[in-house]
Amino acid sequence: MTLNGQSYIAGVWQHNQHSEIFNGFCPGTNESLPSIFYEATLEQVNQATASAELAFKAYRRVSEHQRARFLNTIADEIAALGDVLIETTMLETNLPRQRLEGERLRSINQLRAFADVLLQELEPLQLKCVDDSDETRLPIAKPRTALTHIPIGVVAVFGASNFPYAFSTLGGDTAAALAAGCPVIVKAHPAHPATNELMTKAIDGAIKQCGIPNGVFSMLQGRQHQLSHQLVRAPSVKAVGFTGSLSAATALLKTINDRKEPIPLYGELGSVNPQIVLKGQDVPQKVALAKQLVNSMSMGHGQFCTSPGVWFVPAEDIDFESSAVNAIESAPSDTLLTPGILHAFIKRTDALFKDPNTTLLAKGKLSKQYHAAVQLYTCSADDFAQSKQLQEEVFGPCAILVKYQDEAALMRAISALDGQLTASVYGKIDDFHIQEELIESLQYKVGRLIYNQAPTGVEVCMSMNHGGPFPSSTDVKSTSVGTRAILRFLRPLCVQGDI
Ligand code: NAP
Repeated sequence: MTLNGQSYIAGVWQHNQHSEIFNGFCPGTNESLPSIFYEATLEQVNQATASAELAFKAYRRVSEHQRARFLNTIADEIAALGDVLIETTMLETNLPRQRLEGERLRSINQLRAFADVLLQELEPLQLKCVDDSDETRLPIAKPRTALTHIPIGVVAVFGASNFPYAFSTLGGDTAAALAAGCPVIVKAHPAHPATNELMTKAIDGAIKQCGIPNGVFSMLQGRQHQLSHQLVRAPSVKAVGFTGSLSAATALLKTINDRKEPIPLYGELGSVNPQIVLKGQDVPQKVALAKQLVNSMSMGHGQFCTSPGVWFVPAEDIDFESSAVNAIESAPSDTLLTPGILHAFIKRTDALFKDPNTTLLAKGKLSKQYHAAVQLYTCSADDFAQSKQLQEEVFGPCAILVKYQDEAALMRAISALDGQLTASVYGKIDDFHIQEELIESLQYKVGRLIYNQAPTGVEVCMSMNHGGPFPSSTDVKSTSVGTRAILRFLRPLCVQGDI
């Protein structure tokens, strides 16, 4: 496969002869890849935003049926990339084939799900409503008002390193924005530049087949943050879809807040996804649950935003603890997605190791120097409640088992938590009814409340909510997964009068 290493701006692959270059990186071998990519320049960012603004005028008039065809064609083109896509991404991310094949299918289905909603003229989203006029109303006649929705404008998309398909170039944000009628400019994630290029080839094919205006999609390669800030600063950009860390979202928000016109940044960020094991479970259940949580936290080597990072377990539950310890000690080590993520993981786990309030319960073997070992720490519920450090996401294969003596201590710890994407509660149905106060308190902390299931795995469907109170996301009212994500990129328009 030949890569050109260039950015794609309004239908043209290009690089500036003065562009800086960077190489792809292979976390599996901890070495640079020979593939070379050109940093997009600030001038190219301006070119992409100008052509997107121009394309918006044409794309917003493209019918819902034609947009549905476009989305389905993108899905076909992704499938047509075949195994080259999977092999390229395996090299760039070290994520296993099976996981990537699943994620590719999910991304294809996501595009098709938006197409289906468009084919039903957005009816499933129940966006339209009309209030009839009433000439006889006193003291003044009532006008006819109809609510409709129109696309918001050009959308900038930032994907995450850990979902190279589903939350990247042609992931949920791009699919939702294109479905809404908005042009998209993707700032490609530098952890998988070759994957970005292949995905861009897929959408380029679909643009040509469907006669979509050039400028509806651009992709900018690059590692320099000034590129991202220039993009969100552009007056023609009207919304930002972002998946990644709180620190990056905070930096982008700072730039956005300096704009004359404020725009929304829909940031899907990290979370510790608390797991609450209620008292009164029998031994086999506890043993199985501990293994299930170790499996869940080891998925993608802990690099999921829904990874279970904090487990609240009754202090007396030694069966749970010993089962978890056994599973962790036999868990293999692996690389993380980027050297930066590995560096942050080592820093955070070192801090946990040195924290006087935590104890290392178990650590898997480290088979290579540049790997991360699976780790489980423990602390008391009251120490957890008082420490912001213990409550922060450790991105990678690490969890904290928080022991609670009684329900009051559990409630204090839950109350101390910031907003989360998810929480899971494990127990018997009757216990859930008894624990009304706990359940209610959790509802106000999370975007998805789960009963007796692990948090990893986010279903793409209409009723999904993937988001949550800050800092798990920057917009508590919207979802980044499922077809309702289209609402982020539509704005309401009320039409008044008899027309
Ligand atoms: P990241 O480091 O925040 O990167 C995301 C994007 O932001 C990249 O394009 C990155 O470019 C850019 N960026 C980083 N710092 C920036 C800055 N100061 N100014 C402007 N742009 C900046 O996140 P990641 O490592 O890819 O992903 C891991 C994080 O994402 C975890 O916290 C995880 O929980 C979260 N995540 C959340 C979800 C969700 O749906 N809620 C899904 C997946 C991942 P550079 O690489 O060049 O810095």
